[in-house]
Amino acid sequence: MRVPFGRREQVGVIIGHSIESDIPSAKLKRCSEILDDAPVFSEDDLWLIRFTSDYYHHPIGEVVAAALPSLLRQGRSLHPKVEKVAVTNQAEQADIESMARRAPRQAELLETLLDAGSNGLDTDFLTESMPNWRRAAKGLIEKGLIASFEARADDFDDALSVEPQVAPTLNEDQQAALATLRCSDQFGTYLLDGVTGSGKTEVYLQRLQDILENGRQALVLVPEIGLTPQLVSRLRARLGLEPALLHSGLSDIARLTAWRAAASGAARLIVGTRSAIFTPLKNPGLIIVDEEHDHSFKQQEGLRYSARDLAIARAKRLDIPVILGSATPTLEMLQHCRNGTYQHLVLPVRAGRAVPPKLRLIDTVRNPATDGISEPLAELIRRHLESGGQVLIFLNRRGFAPTLICSACGHIAGCDRCDSRLTVHARSKQLRCHHCGVCRPLNESCEECGEVVRPLGEGTERIEESLGHRFPDAVISRIDSDSTQLKGAMHTALEDATSGRARILVGTQMLSKGHHFPNLTLVGIVNADQGLFGTDFRSSERMAQSVIQVSGRAGREERAGEVLIQTAFPENPFWETLITGGYRQISDEALAEREITRWPPFTRLALLRSAAHRQSDAHHFLEIAQRHAAQAPSESLRILGPVDAPMARKAGRYRAQLLLQSSDRATLHRVLAQLRPLLENDPAARRVRWSIDVDPVELF
Ligand code: ADP
Ligand code: ZN
Repeated sequence: MRVPFGRREQVGVIIGHSIESDIPSAKLKRCSEILDDAPVFSEDDLWLIRFTSDYYHHPIGEVVAAALPSLLRQGRSLHPKVEKVAVTNQAEQADIESMARRAPRQAELLETLLDAGSNGLDTDFLTESMPNWRRAAKGLIEKGLIASFEARADDFDDALSVEPQVAPTLNEDQQAALATLRCSDQFGTYLLDGVTGSGKTEVYLQRLQDILENGRQALVLVPEIGLTPQLVSRLRARLGLEPALLHSGLSDIARLTAWRAAASGAARLIVGTRSAIFTPLKNPGLIIVDEEHDHSFKQQEGLRYSARDLAIARAKRLDIPVILGSATPTLEMLQHCRNGTYQHLVLPVRAGRAVPPKLRLIDTVRNPATDGISEPLAELIRRHLESGGQVLIFLNRRGFAPTLICSACGHIAGCDRCDSRLTVHARSKQLRCHHCGVCRPLNESCEECGEVVRPLGEGTERIEESLGHRFPDAVISRIDSDSTQLKGAMHTALEDATSGRARILVGTQMLSKGHHFPNLTLVGIVNADQGLFGTDFRSSERMAQSVIQVSGRAGREERAGEVLIQTAFPENPFWETLITGGYRQISDEALAEREITRWPPFTRLALLRSAAHRQSDAHHFLEIAQRHAAQAPSESLRILGPVDAPMARKAGRYRAQLLLQSSDRATLHRVLAQLRPLLENDPAARRVRWSIDVDPVELF
């Protein structure tokens, strides 16, 4: 509905009502317009909104805003009236042949409308396909052959006229997993823990088929749809229906249409990214979260929710199963399996005939790299190219070089607004800050002493260039967020990678997620050391996930895959564990360590962040928070800080943080619930930007 708000009007959603009010009736205002005559959210949808607001200690209005597609937020109705045109009863008798001679445009329009039948066509659609249709329509209306009228927008039709593809016969592990999943249509959380290429998607597909055949809907959450067109086309081909898609790459209209189709039940399968967790479902039967470990399921600003965690809460409320899939599950989910609260379904080997890739280390101290590539890696690339394989070079750093240094005075180009270095981008001849987005032209002389500067270290652009010199005949495709900014660029790049036209792929983690490149036989990890000495307690978990995910792109079909990892620290025990024990051993050891050090999943965290133009303001605010929290009578609560954030200054603001930790979730939430109103009303809050992050995944 639309309501007067101050001098303006705002769009609101009614979430409750009352017959009395403490406010005098003269002061109450009427709403000015009801936009939808039926509720937009069901009771269950509203439950999720309230739960999210409570759990993340975030204002409910912002949760509603996050849940609504932007057109509804702007006041569009969920079921907008559209203008349509259709043939009348007399149209059948019209002499189209003679009309085609006298008035060809009219004849064309009449034929199109005859084909469309009594439902007629949307005028927006006609305008697109036949720009001047209105002039022709005028004549036909006068003859009484067609008529225009107002109607509800068409519902989504997800039927495809193709026969679904036949499924492969599942192997024993897949069958066992599927059998467990089929035991119940009620709530249960299932962790499908399968090595890369083990056929997790096949298991989803068969379970999806059951659910859809029972006439229920399924919601599939994926990290990033733009990156996984392969999954979408596989769903389409195998299930024989058109999934409704919900992600940020769509137009507002397309998103609203998909949302409406999910709410009405017209779409049986909904595939979306993070925010799709809020999509209303008429008749839900299953939720799947693919690549459960991926950080993009956690929103990192504003309402800091985890779509994975909300998926579990929502499934419980709806009493339906939820499947979480990953080759590198988070320790939180693994611990739930150990406790027996979630069911652990394991696929230990690759499906079909594919074998796991072999991992090897290259010591870059003994084999120094030139422009990022050591001799042994270059030699291996050559061999794989010669034998018809495809190569992926992985590097988690875009741009040409992470540092620009003066060869005379040693000055390093830094960002004025952040505590960070500027990255050299050679293609665009710019220096850019990857934290605040600032750009400067790239100069060849030092801003301090005027001597020659040189780029230090390497990013994807430099690796691409250096491989171009070494392998001039091979088509090289760089895939990172710079190279894929143009519309369609990602699509083309992925097609080249899948078809094998691109022989060498250079990219960031964009390339490591869920892709299936049939020809890929070698993965080279250029600099794996960044994660070895991280300060975050999740550093090694995350590092193992990233190495295993990118390695998992190699050798997914007949030909075996190889992985070469360049490191200056081959003796680091992390490597031994990863190579001999795999993710299983890494996660077992990490869990044991976390239990001793009392980090999640053995405790719960909430992070209070503040940012201000003056460092003292940022700290002062958190000191107030710290004092309030310290008064909470609880033995299990630990308060750490306030301290500077790991990057103390970003985009011109000083940042600080306060960590609250408890072995007991209820305690933590009780403290946060008391803290929030106190902080909101504190005058110090006006000088800072602050936020509460429940279950933070990044501690900065
Ligand atoms: P994941 O989702 O675990 O990465 P996929 O489901 O994509 O694995 O399977 C990897 C490859 O193995 C795909 O090409 C898939 O078609 C194939 N595959 C999966 N299960 C089987 C099976 N039971 N028999 C033969 N091939 C299979
Ligand atoms: Zn910056």
